[in-house]
Amino acid sequence: MEASTTVSTIELIAPLTGVMVPIEIIPDPVFAKKMVGEGFSIDPLSNVLVAPIAGEVADLQPSHHAITIRSADGIEVLLHIGLDTVRMEGEGFSPKVKEGDHVEVGDPLIEFDLDLVASKAKSLLTQVVIANSERIESLTPVTGVVTAGQDVAATAELAAPVEEGAVATGRTVTSDALLIPNPTGLHARPTATLVNLAKSFGSDIRLRKGEESANAKSMVGIMGLAVARGDKVTVSATGPDAQEAIAQITEAIQTGLGEDCPAVGTADTEAVPAVEEVVVEEESTGPRSGDPNLLLGVSASPGLGVGTVLQLRHDDIQVEEFGEDHHKERRKLNAAIDRSILDLSALQQRLEKEDDAEKAGIFGAHAELLSDPDLLDLAVSAIDKGKSAAYAWRGAFNNYADRLAGLKNEVLAGRANDVRDVGQRVLEELTGQRSEKPELAEGTILIAEDLTPSDTAQLDRSKVVGFATTNGGASSHVAIIARSMDIPAVAGIEGRALDIPDGSRVVLDGSKGSLQTNLSDYEIQGIVERQQRIAARKAAEDERKDEPAVTTDGHRVAVVANIGGVEDAQEAMTKGAEGVGLLRSEFVFLGRTKAPTEEEQAEVYADCSRALQPGQPLVIRTLDVGGDKPLPYLPIPAEENPFLGIRGVRVGIERPEVLRAQCRAIMKAADAGAELNVMFPMIATIEDWRAAKKIWDVEADRLGLTTKVPVGIMMEVPSVAVMARQFAAEEGCDFFSVGTNDLTSYTLAMDRGHPKLAAQVDPCNPAILALIGGACDALHERGKWLGICGGVASDPQAVPILVGLGVDELSCSIPAIPSIKAQVRAYSLEQCKELAAQAVLCSTPAEVRALVPMDEA
Ligand code: PEP
Ligand code: MG
Repeated sequence: MEASTTVSTIELIAPLTGVMVPIEIIPDPVFAKKMVGEGFSIDPLSNVLVAPIAGEVADLQPSHHAITIRSADGIEVLLHIGLDTVRMEGEGFSPKVKEGDHVEVGDPLIEFDLDLVASKAKSLLTQVVIANSERIESLTPVTGVVTAGQDVAATAELAAPVEEGAVATGRTVTSDALLIPNPTGLHARPTATLVNLAKSFGSDIRLRKGEESANAKSMVGIMGLAVARGDKVTVSATGPDAQEAIAQITEAIQTGLGEDCPAVGTADTEAVPAVEEVVVEEESTGPRSGDPNLLLGVSASPGLGVGTVLQLRHDDIQVEEFGEDHHKERRKLNAAIDRSILDLSALQQRLEKEDDAEKAGIFGAHAELLSDPDLLDLAVSAIDKGKSAAYAWRGAFNNYADRLAGLKNEVLAGRANDVRDVGQRVLEELTGQRSEKPELAEGTILIAEDLTPSDTAQLDRSKVVGFATTNGGASSHVAIIARSMDIPAVAGIEGRALDIPDGSRVVLDGSKGSLQTNLSDYEIQGIVERQQRIAARKAAEDERKDEPAVTTDGHRVAVVANIGGVEDAQEAMTKGAEGVGLLRSEFVFLGRTKAPTEEEQAEVYADCSRALQPGQPLVIRTLDVGGDKPLPYLPIPAEENPFLGIRGVRVGIERPEVLRAQCRAIMKAADAGAELNVMFPMIATIEDWRAAKKIWDVEADRLGLTTKVPVGIMMEVPSVAVMARQFAAEEGCDFFSVGTNDLTSYTLAMDRGHPKLAAQVDPCNPAILALIGGACDALHERGKWLGICGGVASDPQAVPILVGLGVDELSCSIPAIPSIKAQVRAYSLEQCKELAAQAVLCSTPAEVRALVPMDEA
């Protein structure tokens, strides 16, 4: 008998009113490649999902964004509202049925908030998929607009039931316990990947969670287990290929089943037992010294600190897992949050009075975080499941912070740390257990796994002479803060630094990225003398900070500042900046939950402009956000590969209304004093540039802009460097500014914040220097200029080489300005050119750096 003779058809009635869309073209490969099954998609115009067939509710996902109906014939129809909606964790979805209910065609299943899903999810496109597609011969969707509960949306030809094959026999192989790393557990997409993999094996395969288990080849079965992040599962296979199946499935689960997953922490919403079972000791590839008294890391902020160690640790607070009735627990949480908000605003006011607006701002932002609905929902839903307020809150803020940290962005990593800070504050309120704030002695060198923004904001600069963290790299959050505070710092230091006892005398060399212990008095004396020489050199550089940077043979290089807002602009002026080469406009509005109005933006840009001397350049970079650094008020769906996704100018092109408003705001500030320039981040193609420039031109016409505002390209993607001649030839392209942080990362294919790769992400790599040199030539041929605004512009060792390559402007971190100017003055242009010519022929960054020996004072 043939295994699949067509026996009948079924009709799927439209579950939503909307436009039919072929599933093959939806922007989600798991659905588009039919890994979940045959189906179609609807672009909805209605907001109540209704049953497309009669049957039983076989599965309703805990986050209520997806539901499966099983017909009497055993056909399982999965309905998945929107894309990436699992991350909304139920917000905006109201189920009208529960698992086990029987439904008729057209019965309401889930009502959802169309606007909310549209603004928070990747897409509203709703998928209707036969989850057990082996049960159908074919599926034929209609096209055009369909009406919910009335029109036929697709017809499926059923296949005859396949004869039950012999029960698989053979050895049963069971995996080790596996922790689910997926941020939102096994929802439809990772489940589809797992089911497809399982189906490629002949063995019977089951996934077990606790007492329950499901056939690993069944979407509905696995989704019915409601496997959450951090849940422990095992997989067993029985059959001829059991061994291979378990090996492959284990690896697939551990690596996230196609999703980008941060490591599973111990403090997720649900407790995660036995983390040790699967956490593999990672072999570090960062710099390591064989000398027990010398610990190596990466230079995060230059300078030498001599002092005594203080290990900065956050105490663990003990909490009970289960609470009283949930009303009481909710009240406890609310009261603790209210008390924390009061404390924070008192602290904020005090700091404002002390004229410390920067620190005040951090605590203001913390208070705002405490009304974040996502964070509160996470806590409340755990309380409603019987958890104590403290337990639920701790899980919620750690989970929320992990999600942010998992976005791999230094700015957002800082935000994650903010969440942990403020979360800890509320936890202390809830439990009455306060973690001791250590007294800082003069000459303290802090050592920590990581420092939060408020750790650093609370650092008393007069007491702390350096810090080292085991996390982070040269362009990490800690490094940026350390440089802006002018404190020597080492990131990614060897883990044994955490074992150095408090009070030990150490020397931290921020320039070399090292920490030395067990020094003799004689050695300390030598180092202190060296420090004095460095201080004397700094003083001499400061003396001449307001003079231009001119080489010994008369070639002038502009030295300007990188800033994140008005205060930085003011500070830059005190350090000798000749203008601003990069205003990171996304930093200006980072702490906000609502988009700034056009007028608010214009006001900030005008304030920055007024802070400079009239006529000095102020280069404003349009918003540089994206999958890796979203702004709270500009939701961008999570992406598997955010550094290669909708980032930088691509966001502006996708959401032109945002870029248009920012362009108009910049134009409105054009006459405030400084010479305004604008540039677009992450340009990769000529089309990117033309699209962004067109938006600029259209708005300039509309506003009747008469002031000349030069427009430039940030060279951060190698394609721009390789095609520099074509880009330089583009009409209206006035300059290039090289973002070497990203350019290095994209050229070497190394994440700029990766602790293990940090030492290799060196912009002095000859490949990067060659790209810069080529671009300088291309621009100069057309009488245009090139600046550098990435971190390498603040690296004195690189300066003569950059000048020799033809760089016209160096845009540095504010404290570096006097020493960068001094370094320009130490060479002739001829020497610089000779160094540059040698540098591009070197084989390694080390060889390049050896060309410019640095006086260690
Ligand atoms: C860069 O990539 O070098 C740059 C200046 O941009 P950002 O560091 O803000 O990504
Ligand atoms: Mg960049």
